[in-house]
Amino acid sequence: MVSTLAKRLYRLKKQILEICILLILTLSFLVANNCFGANLKYIRVLIFKDVSSLNVRIDGFYEVRDIKHQTLYRGKNLSATITVSRGKISMGKAIFNNDRLIIRADDPQVVMVNGKKFRGDICLVRSNSLLKAVNYIELEDYVKGVLIHEASHYWPLEALKALAVVCRSFALYQAEERSSQDYDLSSDIYSQVYGGKSGERYRLNQAVDSTKSQVLVYKGKVLPAFHHATCGGATEDAAILWNIDILPLKGVVCGFCQDSPHFNWHLVLNRAEVRKKLSDGGYKTQDIQDIVILSKTNSGRVKDMSIVFASGNLNISAKDFRNTIGPNSIRSANFKLRFEGEDIVFEGIGWGHGVGFCQWGAYFMAKEDYNFHQILEHYYPGSKIEIRS
Ligand SMILES: [Zn+2]
Repeated sequence: MVSTLAKRLYRLKKQILEICILLILTLSFLVANNCFGANLKYIRVLIFKDVSSLNVRIDGFYEVRDIKHQTLYRGKNLSATITVSRGKISMGKAIFNNDRLIIRADDPQVVMVNGKKFRGDICLVRSNSLLKAVNYIELEDYVKGVLIHEASHYWPLEALKALAVVCRSFALYQAEERSSQDYDLSSDIYSQVYGGKSGERYRLNQAVDSTKSQVLVYKGKVLPAFHHATCGGATEDAAILWNIDILPLKGVVCGFCQDSPHFNWHLVLNRAEVRKKLSDGGYKTQDIQDIVILSKTNSGRVKDMSIVFASGNLNISAKDFRNTIGPNSIRSANFKLRFEGEDIVFEGIGWGHGVGFCQWGAYFMAKEDYNFHQILEHYYPGSKIEIRS
């Protein structure tokens, strides 16, 4: 009798144990699948801004959806000009009442917009009679489309891997900062130059894949991983340019970019050209008599300057001066200037704002066999690499 009861109890315990194991396995499966879906990171990149029309082509099946991903139309082989007609988005013969539309090609198709290939979805945003096109793209694919504009695919792999981590971190930081806006990044030099799938190369993709999901963090937060072409000797403190004052962006001595092709720059503008640029930038101007450098930053870059007119002067930061004249003309804030008659001769060092990662410095570090961890530690001291997938 006792033996039978013991056997029954044993069987009951075994059944409970089996049910528990089954429950745990089921829950693990659900959590794993949920995480997979929830953790895919998407970036919203502005690819065309305020245009009156867009040419879109898809070979294969596609859907037009509203912003809640409800299907409005499903078709095959799209080749249409998209415009705004009487306040509505028209796509070929179809007219949509929605101000925002998502065009999604069936995987793994690629969408062509104005002749460029893009992975992911295209979101059209109408404002009045103009359109914005925003590419919704998975983070890793975005980084693959960016690297070609930041470096050559012939660069040493460790430099490319460092750059992949930098671009991924910068994009993720922007996505967190701009979640309430229509897009996270623009595709020009003011964010990161993005060329869609057309910009991908085998070795660049290799650098992205081998650092998949790795991002720079500081004190638990994704680092705004600013980067530039060539620092010219020392990187700049981000606090000088923006309201960001953290250890990894305080500036370091670079020591590696002196052989960069962008180390020195030279620009000649005449007084009238500088005056016109300032005037176009919204500043009140007169004939320019002189330009005086008022202060410099610890890294040696110009901080504040004064444009001297016949009566009065304009005090302006070097950052604003550079942006007004053109950041690819005045390539850096590290410059001297002199007047030669009507000409103003600028001689400068480096290319870019100078904050964070010096790309040509990274190139020469990799040439000297530093790995991508060491390169990133050099340019962003105190930061760490974490997996954010
Ligand atoms: Zn440098």
